[in-house]
Amino acid sequence: MTPIAQLTIADIRKGLKEKTFSAQELATEALRFAEAENPKTNAYLRLAPERATAQAKRVDEALAKGLDPGPLAGVPVAVKDVIVTRGLKTTCGSRLLAEYVPPYDATVVARLEHAGGLIIGKTNCDEFAMGSSNENSAFGPVRNPVALDRVPGGSSGGSAAVVAQGTAVVSLGSDTGGSIRQPASFCGVVGVTPTYGRVSRYGLVAFASSLDHVGPLARNVSDAATLLQVIAGRDAMDMTSAEAPVPDYQAALTGDVRGLRIGLPKQYFDGLAADTANHIYKAVDGLKRSGCEVKEVSLPNTEYAISAYYIICTAEASSNLARYDGVRYTTRSSETPTLIDMYRNTRGEGFGTECKRRIMLGTYVLSHGYYDAYYLKAQRVRALITQDFHRAFEEVDALITPVSPFPAFRLGEKLADPLEMYLSDIYTITGDLAGIPCMSVPCGTTAEGLPVGMQILTKHFDESGMFRIAYAHEHP
Ligand code: GLN
Repeated sequence: MTPIAQLTIADIRKGLKEKTFSAQELATEALRFAEAENPKTNAYLRLAPERATAQAKRVDEALAKGLDPGPLAGVPVAVKDVIVTRGLKTTCGSRLLAEYVPPYDATVVARLEHAGGLIIGKTNCDEFAMGSSNENSAFGPVRNPVALDRVPGGSSGGSAAVVAQGTAVVSLGSDTGGSIRQPASFCGVVGVTPTYGRVSRYGLVAFASSLDHVGPLARNVSDAATLLQVIAGRDAMDMTSAEAPVPDYQAALTGDVRGLRIGLPKQYFDGLAADTANHIYKAVDGLKRSGCEVKEVSLPNTEYAISAYYIICTAEASSNLARYDGVRYTTRSSETPTLIDMYRNTRGEGFGTECKRRIMLGTYVLSHGYYDAYYLKAQRVRALITQDFHRAFEEVDALITPVSPFPAFRLGEKLADPLEMYLSDIYTITGDLAGIPCMSVPCGTTAEGLPVGMQILTKHFDESGMFRIAYAHEHP
């Protein structure tokens, strides 16, 4: 059998069909491998042997009866620990939820199991998905499997690391300001942030509701497209989920990009480190040779994106995180002489530094007298950034940019300076603010051997166009 670390969804489909292995054998091997490898990275917070094995048994039974067990049949999938799983602890990387066992499944979880996927474990992440390095988890940082002294990126660091390490074939992450694409680029895998509304957020623990997305991470474009196909589409349980029909994403993976117009936004390349820029220019040259037209475009409001993002996301977070009060969900403080002490001590002991910083910032920007000056203004800037994209898409079909100004940095390197950490999100947060689809695909490695990612962005609901380009880049 091909080592589990190299299997693709297509390999698994073939192996099951030809009876090279059963789903139960796959589950056993995937769990064994994950358990053996995890001490190196701390990427899984917990494995789910019972759930994976029971599901594999169902897949084998369906196969034996000649039924179609679904597009993800037997595929080991890891799920970020901000996505709720019925009966399986979901901590959001927070001490506050260390013992929380959800009573229901997120829609994405139900869909991927309905498609035959095996949930083999829940992955580590920054607390409530706030961070860019996975160092804000209450359960210890994740190490990058490519270079163990480096961070895997964040906040979906665990979900990127398990796919890079090969302990899951695909995984689910969440992205509010770059948390799927940035770790994907740091770990050398594919990461997709779909259009806002494309994938249900029901059962995704809220960080900043108007920016939160669920999306796939995978070792190749086709696997990412397959996972998105399974989880995408209208869900009555999420009123922001879109009615838009979901096209067949595999149909876009032809390698044919002739005549597609690609824009390079100049603001994203100004001052970019040569090592990163050169890899992206090389990839763009490859696409040009395949028949794309390339031109420079301008997204003039890019420089305001970080300020707008950190006002909007902290405002929404301060409201969303109010529910962790020691009464519901949470692990309660033992010091509770009065009701107010109970709230205060539970939250004081439970939240980590970054969450506290954001709750304070968010409460401030929403407070009387500051709402207009900060929050409302940030929303206006968000509209301008979205308009920049709309204008650019009148001239081009897709945009290509870097994902991160630098490759994976060392653990601890940026911890002392939160602002420096925030600045690292510059290329990814604009896509979330506009709600357009965007993804990171590997496009080379630095002299030190660290992966570099390239970002592709397209119009609302044009994930197919984005996959088309990503696939052509992957198959030059
Ligand atoms: N790094 C960004 C932040 O800390 C993005 C996080 C995310 O996308 N969840 O907010």
